[in-house]
Amino acid sequence: MSPTRQRTAGPRTRPRSITRLHIDWVACEGRGLCSELLPELLEPDPWGYPLARDGSREPAVPRALEAHATRAVEACPVLALRLVKRPA
Ligand code: SF4
Repeated sequence: MSPTRQRTAGPRTRPRSITRLHIDWVACEGRGLCSELLPELLEPDPWGYPLARDGSREPAVPRALEAHATRAVEACPVLALRLVKRPA
């Protein structure tokens, strides 16, 4: 009798994604609150609008900073920030 071959699915792989901080530039009113709450990722321009320190439009949020980023999102008075998952 021949050995039975089992089909194995192999290790499950999840689509890789990273968390990014999305800034709605139309909604943002400046003043720099988010830059104060998340200085590791953001710095204010001269008018208080947040600039990503990495120069991107949607800075990547390291896992260690996700709680701080969530606080910044929740504190934005005009809901101009949100965390989004993007492909890695
Ligand atoms: S907290 Fe909101 S409104 Fe204030 S600078 Fe940041 S994104 Fe703009």
